[in-house]
This record gives sequence, C-alpha cells and structure tokens, in this order.
Amino acid sequence: MKFTSAGAIAADTRLLDKLTGIRRDIHQHPETAFEEVRTSDLVAAALTELGIPIHRGLGKTGVVGTLQGKRPGQRRIGLRADMDALFIHETTGLPYASKIDGKMHACGHDGHTTMLLGAAGKLAADPDFAGTVHFIFQPAEEGLGGGRVMIEDGLFELFPCDAVYGVHNAPKSPLGKVETRPGALMAAGDTWEVIFKGTGGHGAMPHMATDATVAAGHFISGLSSIISRNVPANERAVISVGHIHAGDYNSPNIIPSRVIVRGTARSYVPDVRNTLERRLGELASGCAAAQGVEAHLIYTRRYPPLVNAPAQTELAVRAAAATSGAENVDADCAPLGGSEDFSFMLEKVPGAYVMIGNGDGENSHFVHTPGYDFNDELIPYGVAYWMNIVALELGDAAD
Ligand SMILES: [Zn+2]
Ligand SMILES: [Zn+2]
Repeated sequence: MKFTSAGAIAADTRLLDKLTGIRRDIHQHPETAFEEVRTSDLVAAALTELGIPIHRGLGKTGVVGTLQGKRPGQRRIGLRADMDALFIHETTGLPYASKIDGKMHACGHDGHTTMLLGAAGKLAADPDFAGTVHFIFQPAEEGLGGGRVMIEDGLFELFPCDAVYGVHNAPKSPLGKVETRPGALMAAGDTWEVIFKGTGGHGAMPHMATDATVAAGHFISGLSSIISRNVPANERAVISVGHIHAGDYNSPNIIPSRVIVRGTARSYVPDVRNTLERRLGELASGCAAAQGVEAHLIYTRRYPPLVNAPAQTELAVRAAAATSGAENVDADCAPLGGSEDFSFMLEKVPGAYVMIGNGDGENSHFVHTPGYDFNDELIPYGVAYWMNIVALELGDAAD
C-alpha cells in the first residue's frame, strides 16, 4: 500500500458525490450528545455494507468497525471520528441546512464522520496492509466526554490499539493545510465555581453585615495575578470568568448573602493545572477571610490537555505531507486554546491529532457559530490522510 494524495481521491467523482451526499444527509439530521441514534445507524449500515464487522453500544451510540489487512501482522491502530452536533440554530440558509430547530452540525463532525467512512470504504476495497484498523465513531465530543465514556465501557480492552489518530477541521485555515505539534496541542478545559457566603444585610447598614460581594470583587481582580505570578513564564494558562450571580435585580438596596462566580481554566501541563486549582482556592479563601465571609471552591476537571506522542506526530506529519504536500504542513504550530475529548484516548494510547484547514474563503465561519458549514472539498483530504496513516503504520509506504 502506497501513498494517496487528496487530488487522487478528488478525481474519483463518483466516490466524492456519494460521500458528499452522506455528509449533507448527516448535516440535515444533527443529533446532540449521546443521542446520535440516526447517525450511528447510518454509520453502522455503511460499514456493514462494506463488509466491515461492527460493534455498537460503547458510549451508548458509539460504533467501532474492525478491518483486518490481507497480509499477516500484529499491529493494531485506531482511527477516530466524532459524530455529535451542537445546540445552535443554523442560519446558513443552505439547501441541506439542519432540519431540526436549535440543533446543527456547527463543528464539522458530520464531515469527520464522512471522511472516516470514506477511508473505510477505500481500505475495505483493497485491504493491502498488515494488521488491524479499528474505525472508532464516538458520540458526545462536545462537552460530555463521549470518548471517555467509550473508554470506560471497554473500548481499548475490546479493541486494543497500539496507536490512535484523530483529525479536526480548522475553520478559516487554507483548504487542506495541516497543523499539529508534538506534545500539548490543546488545553485542559476545566470549569470552576466559587461560592462566597456572608450574612448579607440592609444596603444602608453595611457595618451590620458581612459582605460577600466585596470579597468576590477582590477575588475577580486578583485572578489575573494567578497567571502572572504563579504560572511560570514559559508555560501558558488562561482563567476567565463566565458567570456572576448575586442578589436580585429588584433589590438594589440589599447586600446579598451569597455571590457565585463561575469560570473556565485552561492549561497544558499537569503542574500548571494543579497550580490553577490550588491558587483559585487560596485566592478565594484569602479574599473571603479579609471580609469575614466564607468561600467554597468547586473545581471540575473536564477534558485533560491533548498531548501528542512524538513518534506518532512525526508519522502523522509524513501522512499529511503525502496528502496535502509538505509545503502545506506545519509540524510545530502554536498550542490551541480549545479542548477536545480525544485527549482521553491519548492518555491511554500513544497517538496524534491534527487540524486540517476547512478553507479560508470570504464565507468561511468559525466552528460553533450559526453560519458555519463543513467544506465538502475537504473530504478528499481527510480520506487520503487516513489512508496515508494506514499506509505508514501498517503498509509499506515507509519502505
Ligand atoms: Zn466543537
Ligand atoms: Zn469539534
């Protein structure tokens, strides 16, 4: 099995028409976390039609297809795509726009699912490789950690993998341009909440009260010092406040007894993540003590940082170069601020995750916005990239 370029896949117009049809069909019928029933039925039917044995039910709606190469080999790899949509009302006005009010594929997971199905079809037609490919279609990437749930349900016990790979489209990036890096590519995405509790009281008599609002105010002003004073200068981290709640809009003359501040914390290495959690608690307690009120921190570790293994990243870069041309591959991009639950799989199995440009035309939109659409011209890049990963991992492309 040799390398495949995106151009070679794009030249197969019959295949491309079929895949575009699948992509738009999924796009019209978006399903959110753990409810990807129709989508997983579609995936299961497509794999079955290709003669690929499937296993269903990991992470509720997850589907795993397993393809053996026709040559003997012990190595096993996992290729992963996500299937879920978002709670956003689509405004693209496209003929194949979402048919479900309030839900849309605004992150391109319709395209990710299609690209992996396309690769499964090509590989099943000519499994000229040595070993096993597991096609992993996971639910609930957006926030609910479907990847983690699949692992808890036994993904890697049932389907052991020596390496795993993932891709995501990159909005506003040139079509087919691949970006990745060894080490931390994406951040740990945690949420935190601090509850300040005082006595509250009459707004005219603050000396009779303890005031949680003042403590919360000092806490919020102090947050940036955690980044500037506690995180080493050669590391990165972000803390943002996303929600503040206190008192009642109709009661400006009442000192609230409770103030809730909620936010996000992003980091790339365990040490910094631990520092953020510890210092948020210490800052909250210190600010509370200064006002004679109490503070309670709830820190929720959601997605770990996404850490690419060096050897698999190198292999992914070679696969990307064979797909898009070496000049269209950035093998050492800056770490991204977002989070991704493929990180749970990378905690268990070495692997690599890459971003592939969705196109940077005038009408391109960021993911998670109502005008976004996955670019069908990206499908051949994704299909070829997956084939090249298999060629390098299990084929003789490297020879
Ligand atoms: Zn997303
Ligand atoms: Zn996404």
